[in-house]
Formats: sequence, structure tokens, C-alpha cells
Amino acid sequence: MYMLKDGRGTAGLARGNTVWVPEDVVRDCVLSADGHYPLESGGVLMGWWSVENIAVVTAMIGPGPEALHERYAFQPDQDWQIEQIALHYERSERRETYLGDWHTHPDARNGTLSWTDRSVVRRIIATPAARCPVPLMMILWGAPESWNLSMWQGWLRPRKLLWDKLAIDTLRTATYQR
Ligand SMILES: [Zn+2]
Repeated sequence: MYMLKDGRGTAGLARGNTVWVPEDVVRDCVLSADGHYPLESGGVLMGWWSVENIAVVTAMIGPGPEALHERYAFQPDQDWQIEQIALHYERSERRETYLGDWHTHPDARNGTLSWTDRSVVRRIIATPAARCPVPLMMILWGAPESWNLSMWQGWLRPRKLLWDKLAIDTLRTATYQR
């Protein structure tokens, strides 16, 4: 599914495409963002890729009970999340998989990824167990009553002589009701 196509891209690469996020998932993210403000919060996005390389988010898994919420850092409770991801995967009859992460940037003026965020994206790509070569990274930035949403996607641009270069694309987000 994620084989290299003509050396330029991989399946599941939405480049400029839209990521669909259910309104209730956005609401849950905002609740978590509000609840931890001015500290960071975050979690995992679950869903599937359509044949047209459009990502459809179907669920959000929260930070977990042992997550670290700090002013400029967030570390999810990874053991708990891995359990929840596996549970959700089974419950969805193996249709909804891990699409990437989301977290907040309280009081930020834009949704740009930090260098730490970029290294997290690189680590997700490099972790075979994550099975997510083109992870999404959603940032909620701002403050209660005025959160903004930025959606990013990371992928490795193959290079002939040097190590693969991490590319970060911005994606459009659209919400849907269910
Ligand atoms: Zn960040």
C-alpha cells in the first residue's frame, strides 16, 4: 500500500488534499486543549486513507492517564495509547488504523511544527510497528475560545546520495457531521 510510486511519492500521501475530521473529534480535542490550558495536551488520530489519498479521521485517542502536560512539551502515555490503538483497530474490524498525532500549542501565533515535532514525525516514519510512513500531525494553536487548527503531513523524500530528507506538507482540513 505504501510502495514508492515512480520514486516521487507514496500512496497515502495527500499533498494538498483534504483531511476530513468529524466535528465531535474536533470538539473532544478542544475540550482536552481547554482542560489543560496553558499546558499542552494531545493524542492520536485514527481513521483510514481513501483510494484517492484522502485521509478520513474517525476517532481521537486522548493523552492517557500518565501523560506529561507541560508548558512547552507534551508526552503521551504511550503504553496506554498503544493499547487503545490496538483496541480501536480490532473494534473497527481492522479498518481504522493509526494516522498520526495531534497536540496543542497554547498561546502560539501560528500552527508551525517545532523542531521537536519534526523529529517526532521522523521517528513515527522510522518506527515499523507504527505502520505509518506518511503521518499526519495536527496542531491546535491559540487559546480557549479561539483555537485554530493546522494539519501537516510528513514523508521522506528519497535522495540518491544523502539520507532521505524529511518533507512536511500542509493539508487542508474539513469537518463532517455524523
Ligand atoms: Zn508541538
